[in-house]
Amino acid sequence: MKLLRFNGGRVGLVLDGTVRDITAAAGVDPAQWPPVGMVQLIASFGAKREQLLDAARRAPGLDLASVHLETPVPWPNKLIAIPVNYHAHALEMSSPAISKNGGFFVKSASSLSGASDPILLPDLPGRAVHHEAELAIIVGRRGRHVSREDALEYVFGYACLLDMTVRGKQERAIRKSYDTFTPVGPWITTADEVPDPSALRVQLWVNDESRQDAYTRDMIVDVPEIIAMCSSVVTLEPGDVIATGTAEGVGPVSVGDTVTIDISPGVGRMAVRVEQGQGGWNIAIPRDV
Ligand code: MN
Repeated sequence: MKLLRFNGGRVGLVLDGTVRDITAAAGVDPAQWPPVGMVQLIASFGAKREQLLDAARRAPGLDLASVHLETPVPWPNKLIAIPVNYHAHALEMSSPAISKNGGFFVKSASSLSGASDPILLPDLPGRAVHHEAELAIIVGRRGRHVSREDALEYVFGYACLLDMTVRGKQERAIRKSYDTFTPVGPWITTADEVPDPSALRVQLWVNDESRQDAYTRDMIVDVPEIIAMCSSVVTLEPGDVIATGTAEGVGPVSVGDTVTIDISPGVGRMAVRVEQGQGGWNIAIPRDV
Protein backbone atom coordinates (compact mmCIF):
# COMPACT_ATOMS: atom_id res chain seq x y z
CA MET A 1 0.00 0.00 0.00
CA LYS A 2 1.06 3.55 -0.70
CA LEU A 3 -0.01 5.87 2.12
CA LEU A 4 0.27 9.63 1.81
CA ARG A 5 -0.72 13.01 3.21
CA PHE A 6 -2.13 15.72 0.98
CA ASN A 7 -4.09 18.99 0.74
CA GLY A 8 -3.71 20.19 4.32
CA GLY A 9 -3.32 17.04 6.39
CA ARG A 10 -5.69 14.71 4.56
CA VAL A 11 -4.73 11.03 4.38
CA GLY A 12 -4.76 9.09 1.14
CA LEU A 13 -4.00 5.73 -0.38
CA VAL A 14 -2.80 5.33 -3.94
CA LEU A 15 -5.04 2.89 -5.79
CA ASP A 16 -4.94 2.30 -9.56
CA GLY A 17 -2.60 5.27 -9.86
CA THR A 18 -5.02 7.72 -8.24
CA VAL A 19 -5.29 9.20 -4.76
CA ARG A 20 -8.19 7.94 -2.64
CA ASP A 21 -9.12 10.11 0.34
CA ILE A 22 -9.35 7.88 3.43
CA THR A 23 -9.10 10.66 6.04
CA ALA A 24 -12.39 9.79 7.75
CA ALA A 25 -11.80 6.02 7.75
CA ALA A 26 -8.31 6.61 9.15
CA GLY A 27 -9.78 8.66 11.99
CA VAL A 28 -7.44 11.55 11.27
CA ASP A 29 -8.48 15.16 11.87
CA PRO A 30 -6.63 17.31 9.30
CA ALA A 31 -6.90 20.34 11.64
CA GLN A 32 -5.39 18.52 14.61
CA TRP A 33 -2.45 20.20 16.35
CA PRO A 34 0.08 18.88 16.91
CA PRO A 35 -0.36 16.87 13.71
CA VAL A 36 0.22 13.42 15.13
CA GLY A 37 -2.64 11.70 13.29
CA MET A 38 -0.30 9.82 11.00
CA VAL A 39 1.80 8.63 13.94
CA GLN A 40 -1.36 7.27 15.57
CA LEU A 41 -2.50 5.73 12.29
CA ILE A 42 0.85 3.96 11.80
CA ALA A 43 0.72 2.64 15.37
CA SER A 44 -2.72 1.10 14.76
CA PHE A 45 -2.40 0.36 11.06
CA GLY A 46 -2.46 -3.43 11.26
CA ALA A 47 -5.94 -3.50 12.77
CA LYS A 48 -7.33 -0.91 10.33
CA ARG A 49 -5.77 -2.18 7.15
CA GLU A 50 -8.81 -3.84 5.51
CA GLN A 51 -11.15 -1.07 6.60
CA LEU A 52 -8.84 1.49 5.00
CA LEU A 53 -8.61 -0.50 1.77
CA ASP A 54 -12.41 -0.70 1.65
CA ALA A 55 -12.71 3.04 2.10
CA ALA A 56 -10.12 3.59 -0.61
CA ARG A 57 -12.00 1.38 -3.08
CA ARG A 58 -15.20 3.36 -2.50
CA ALA A 59 -13.55 6.80 -2.77
CA PRO A 60 -13.34 8.68 -6.05
CA GLY A 61 -9.89 8.70 -7.65
CA LEU A 62 -8.05 12.01 -7.58
CA ASP A 63 -5.35 12.71 -10.13
CA LEU A 64 -1.96 12.53 -8.38
CA ALA A 65 -0.81 15.64 -10.23
CA SER A 66 -3.80 17.60 -8.91
CA VAL A 67 -3.07 17.19 -5.20
CA HIS A 68 -0.47 18.86 -2.97
CA LEU A 69 1.67 16.07 -1.55
CA GLU A 70 2.79 16.74 2.01
CA THR A 71 5.38 15.01 4.13
CA PRO A 72 3.89 11.67 5.22
CA VAL A 73 4.76 11.96 8.93
CA PRO A 74 4.99 15.65 9.88
CA TRP A 75 5.40 15.22 13.64
CA PRO A 76 7.52 12.14 14.34
CA ASN A 77 9.10 11.61 17.71
CA LYS A 78 12.50 11.47 16.00
CA LEU A 79 14.22 12.11 12.70
CA ILE A 80 17.38 10.04 12.77
CA ALA A 81 20.06 10.06 10.08
CA ILE A 82 22.98 7.79 9.28
CA PRO A 83 26.15 9.51 8.06
CA VAL A 84 28.31 8.35 5.16
CA ASN A 85 26.84 4.91 4.59
CA TYR A 86 28.36 3.90 1.27
CA HIS A 87 32.09 3.27 0.78
CA ALA A 88 32.38 5.38 -2.36
CA HIS A 89 30.78 8.38 -0.60
CA ALA A 90 33.18 7.93 2.32
CA LEU A 91 36.05 8.23 -0.14
CA GLU A 92 34.66 11.37 -1.80
CA MET A 93 34.10 13.02 1.60
CA SER A 94 37.47 11.83 2.98
CA SER A 95 35.68 10.49 6.06
CA PRO A 96 36.52 6.79 6.33
CA ALA A 97 36.38 6.98 10.13
CA ILE A 98 32.69 7.85 10.09
CA SER A 99 31.84 4.92 7.86
CA LYS A 100 33.87 2.53 9.97
CA ASN A 101 32.44 3.68 13.28
CA GLY A 102 28.84 3.91 12.18
CA GLY A 103 26.57 5.75 14.57
CA PHE A 104 23.82 8.23 13.85
CA PHE A 105 22.85 11.85 14.31
CA VAL A 106 19.51 13.61 14.53
CA LYS A 107 18.01 16.33 12.38
CA SER A 108 15.22 18.61 13.51
CA ALA A 109 11.87 17.03 12.65
CA SER A 110 10.72 20.50 11.59
CA SER A 111 13.00 20.15 8.55
CA LEU A 112 10.52 17.64 7.06
CA SER A 113 8.66 18.70 3.93
CA GLY A 114 6.73 16.99 1.17
CA ALA A 115 7.04 16.11 -2.49
CA SER A 116 5.03 19.15 -3.58
CA ASP A 117 6.87 21.57 -1.29
CA PRO A 118 9.93 23.51 -2.46
CA ILE A 119 13.35 23.23 -0.86
CA LEU A 120 14.09 26.74 0.43
CA LEU A 121 17.77 27.66 0.35
CA PRO A 122 18.91 29.86 3.24
CA ASP A 123 20.53 33.15 2.32
CA LEU A 124 24.14 32.14 2.93
CA PRO A 125 26.44 33.71 0.32
CA GLY A 126 29.38 31.50 -0.49
CA ARG A 127 27.98 28.37 1.16
CA ALA A 128 27.06 25.33 -0.92
CA VAL A 129 23.88 23.37 -0.23
CA HIS A 130 24.17 19.74 -1.33
CA HIS A 131 21.61 17.06 -2.16
CA GLU A 132 21.89 13.65 -0.51
CA ALA A 133 19.55 10.98 -1.94
CA GLU A 134 18.55 8.48 0.73
CA LEU A 135 16.17 5.64 1.45
CA ALA A 136 13.92 6.55 4.42
CA ILE A 137 12.77 3.94 6.90
CA ILE A 138 9.44 4.67 8.60
CA VAL A 139 9.28 2.83 11.92
CA GLY A 140 6.08 0.87 12.60
CA ARG A 141 6.42 -0.39 16.18
CA ARG A 142 7.92 0.72 19.45
CA GLY A 143 11.25 -1.03 19.94
CA ARG A 144 14.32 -0.98 22.14
CA HIS A 145 17.30 -3.32 21.83
CA VAL A 146 15.88 -4.84 18.67
CA SER A 147 18.00 -7.66 17.28
CA ARG A 148 19.23 -7.64 13.73
CA GLU A 149 17.16 -10.79 13.13
CA ASP A 150 13.91 -9.14 14.26
CA ALA A 151 14.64 -5.69 12.84
CA LEU A 152 12.51 -5.76 9.69
CA GLU A 153 9.40 -6.49 11.80
CA TYR A 154 9.78 -2.94 13.13
CA VAL A 155 9.64 -1.30 9.71
CA PHE A 156 6.31 0.18 8.66
CA GLY A 157 7.49 1.25 5.25
CA TYR A 158 9.92 3.12 3.07
CA ALA A 159 10.04 6.44 1.25
CA CYS A 160 12.34 8.66 -0.77
CA LEU A 161 14.23 11.20 1.32
CA LEU A 162 16.49 14.14 0.51
CA ASP A 163 18.95 14.99 3.27
CA MET A 164 19.77 18.55 2.24
CA THR A 165 22.98 19.86 3.75
CA VAL A 166 24.86 23.13 3.99
CA ARG A 167 28.51 22.10 3.61
CA GLY A 168 30.92 23.51 6.17
CA LYS A 169 32.31 23.11 9.64
CA GLN A 170 29.32 23.99 11.80
CA GLU A 171 27.54 21.29 13.75
CA ARG A 172 25.88 18.84 11.41
CA ALA A 173 22.53 19.37 13.14
CA ILE A 174 22.39 23.06 12.26
CA ARG A 175 23.61 22.56 8.70
CA LYS A 176 20.96 19.92 8.01
CA SER A 177 17.99 21.24 10.02
CA TYR A 178 16.79 24.19 7.97
CA ASP A 179 13.06 24.10 7.29
CA THR A 180 12.40 22.10 4.07
CA PHE A 181 15.82 20.36 4.26
CA THR A 182 14.26 16.89 4.57
CA PRO A 183 11.76 16.30 1.77
CA VAL A 184 10.15 12.86 2.26
CA GLY A 185 7.71 11.22 -0.12
CA PRO A 186 5.92 11.06 -2.37
CA TRP A 187 4.26 8.51 -0.04
CA ILE A 188 5.15 5.68 2.32
CA THR A 189 5.30 2.33 0.55
CA THR A 190 4.44 -0.26 3.19
CA ALA A 191 7.11 -2.83 3.94
CA ASP A 192 5.14 -5.77 2.48
CA GLU A 193 5.72 -4.22 -0.95
CA VAL A 194 9.48 -3.93 -0.33
CA PRO A 195 10.46 -7.45 0.70
CA ASP A 196 14.20 -6.79 0.45
CA PRO A 197 15.39 -3.26 1.32
CA SER A 198 18.91 -4.23 0.26
CA ALA A 199 17.72 -4.73 -3.33
CA LEU A 200 16.82 -1.14 -4.19
CA ARG A 201 18.29 1.34 -6.64
CA VAL A 202 18.53 4.95 -5.46
CA GLN A 203 18.90 7.54 -8.22
CA LEU A 204 19.02 11.32 -8.18
CA TRP A 205 19.03 13.91 -10.89
CA VAL A 206 19.44 17.68 -10.75
CA ASN A 207 17.35 18.91 -13.66
CA ASP A 208 18.30 16.39 -16.38
CA GLU A 209 21.76 15.62 -15.03
CA SER A 210 22.28 12.27 -13.32
CA ARG A 211 24.14 12.87 -10.05
CA GLN A 212 23.63 9.79 -7.85
CA ASP A 213 22.99 6.17 -8.80
CA ALA A 214 23.53 3.55 -6.11
CA TYR A 215 22.28 0.24 -4.84
CA THR A 216 21.26 -0.29 -1.23
CA ARG A 217 23.20 -3.57 -1.20
CA ASP A 218 26.31 -1.35 -1.02
CA MET A 219 25.30 0.21 2.30
CA ILE A 220 28.04 -0.11 4.93
CA VAL A 221 25.40 -0.51 7.66
CA ASP A 222 22.30 -2.18 6.19
CA VAL A 223 18.65 -1.62 7.17
CA PRO A 224 18.48 -4.38 9.84
CA GLU A 225 21.75 -3.19 11.36
CA ILE A 226 20.50 0.42 11.36
CA ILE A 227 17.39 -0.60 13.33
CA ALA A 228 19.51 -2.64 15.76
CA MET A 229 22.04 0.16 16.22
CA CYS A 230 19.51 2.98 16.69
CA SER A 231 17.35 0.96 19.08
CA SER A 232 20.38 0.08 21.18
CA VAL A 233 20.47 3.78 22.11
CA VAL A 234 16.94 5.16 21.75
CA THR A 235 13.45 3.71 21.92
CA LEU A 236 12.13 3.68 18.38
CA GLU A 237 8.52 4.86 18.12
CA PRO A 238 5.90 4.37 15.41
CA GLY A 239 6.34 7.09 12.83
CA ASP A 240 10.02 7.69 13.51
CA VAL A 241 11.87 8.50 10.30
CA ILE A 242 15.39 7.18 9.69
CA ALA A 243 17.47 8.50 6.81
CA THR A 244 19.76 5.64 5.86
CA GLY A 245 22.67 7.66 4.46
CA THR A 246 23.70 8.70 1.00
CA ALA A 247 25.96 7.30 -1.68
CA GLU A 248 28.57 9.04 -3.79
CA GLY A 249 27.74 11.86 -6.16
CA VAL A 250 26.52 14.51 -3.74
CA GLY A 251 26.72 18.02 -5.14
CA PRO A 252 25.36 21.55 -5.01
CA VAL A 253 21.88 22.73 -5.90
CA SER A 254 20.84 26.23 -6.98
CA VAL A 255 17.66 28.29 -7.02
CA GLY A 256 15.53 27.16 -9.97
CA ASP A 257 16.81 23.58 -10.00
CA THR A 258 14.54 20.56 -9.82
CA VAL A 259 15.91 17.69 -7.73
CA THR A 260 14.42 14.30 -8.67
CA ILE A 261 14.88 11.19 -6.54
CA ASP A 262 13.75 7.73 -7.60
CA ILE A 263 13.94 4.55 -5.52
CA SER A 264 12.97 1.39 -7.32
CA PRO A 265 11.42 -1.04 -7.44
CA GLY A 266 8.29 0.15 -5.74
CA VAL A 267 9.30 2.94 -3.38
CA GLY A 268 8.60 5.96 -5.56
CA ARG A 269 9.82 9.07 -7.27
CA MET A 270 9.48 12.74 -6.48
CA ALA A 271 10.71 15.93 -8.14
CA VAL A 272 11.27 18.88 -5.82
CA ARG A 273 11.87 22.49 -6.82
CA VAL A 274 14.65 24.56 -5.24
CA GLU A 275 13.69 28.12 -4.31
CA GLN A 276 15.27 31.01 -2.44
CA GLY A 277 14.49 31.22 1.26
CA GLN A 278 15.47 33.77 3.87
CA GLY A 279 18.05 34.09 6.60
CA GLY A 280 20.40 31.48 7.93
CA TRP A 281 23.24 31.16 10.38
CA ASN A 282 26.58 31.79 8.78
CA ILE A 283 29.12 32.01 11.59
CA ALA A 284 31.60 29.16 11.18
CA ILE A 285 32.03 27.53 14.57
CA PRO A 286 34.79 24.92 14.87
CA ARG A 287 33.26 21.48 15.09
CA ASP A 288 35.28 20.42 18.12
CA VAL A 289 34.07 23.08 20.59
MN1 MN B 1 22.77 12.17 4.72
